[in-house]
Amino acid sequence: MARALHRAVLDWYQRAGRDLPWRHPGCSAWGIYLSEVMSQQTPVARVQPVWERWLERWPTPADLAADSPGEAVRMWDRLGYPRRALRLWESAGVMVERHGGDVPRDHEDLLALPGVGAYTAAAVASFAFGEPLPVVDTNVRRVLARAVSGEQHAAPALTVAESRLAAEWMPEDRDEANAWNAAVMELGALVCTARSPRCGECPVASLCAWQLAGRPEQEGPPRRGQAWHGTDRQVRGRIVQLLRESPDPVPRTAVELVWPDDEAKVERCLAGLLEDGLIEPVEGGYALPA
Ligand code: SF4
Repeated sequence: MARALHRAVLDWYQRAGRDLPWRHPGCSAWGIYLSEVMSQQTPVARVQPVWERWLERWPTPADLAADSPGEAVRMWDRLGYPRRALRLWESAGVMVERHGGDVPRDHEDLLALPGVGAYTAAAVASFAFGEPLPVVDTNVRRVLARAVSGEQHAAPALTVAESRLAAEWMPEDRDEANAWNAAVMELGALVCTARSPRCGECPVASLCAWQLAGRPEQEGPPRRGQAWHGTDRQVRGRIVQLLRESPDPVPRTAVELVWPDDEAKVERCLAGLLEDGLIEPVEGGYALPA
């Protein structure tokens, strides 16, 4: 079963995987590293143009480290969760100081970079350096839950059992294992999607435990998407956007207009952004960090 599943997914990926620039053989480890951080909470279609602009402006970690953190936040555009831009800038500095200006190859060194967790470290180790570590994101977890465990949904957060399952289902061959990491993730992104899996087009439909069981609905409360309107995240995003688009410091009165109905919310979001180092108080108001 494992062999058949591997073959079906790998063949499908060769035929149907998206042609993304960071998957090209010549892409640098730095390019792959950027793509992984940018893609974590943002759809690929939005990531690609920003990724291209970043690499054009900062083709190496040293180039980014030599620029200001505010420029990293500005160039982050609207990818969301802009703390990731600051962490990238910090990690570029670490690469210059400790790793000769390169993305480190060693998994432990990757994990020690600012903002890098288990997923990113494994993904960069696998995709940039061919280390066949299991790369487990929500797409992978969903495909394995359905195809292997016969369950409609993965657990709400990564469990030890899921990590173990992902490791067990890695192909033994090193090259296949690295391709599998990308392929199974892609299958989850394009075919075995969270809300409406396209089993009719799926290369593993004849092997999938959940499909073969008749796609049983999982019991338990329905999963709700995160509400967005009026969240602190939305207000923080508006403040950063305002500062990003302004060449001059933005006065407090203008910042308050991003959410005029709730002064306390704006206050809280400003305080959070200052604490995170995403904005700075300057003469005349606020600005991105210099
Ligand atoms: S058959 Fe359906 S549920 Fe199973 S892996 Fe394919 S898309 Fe997902």
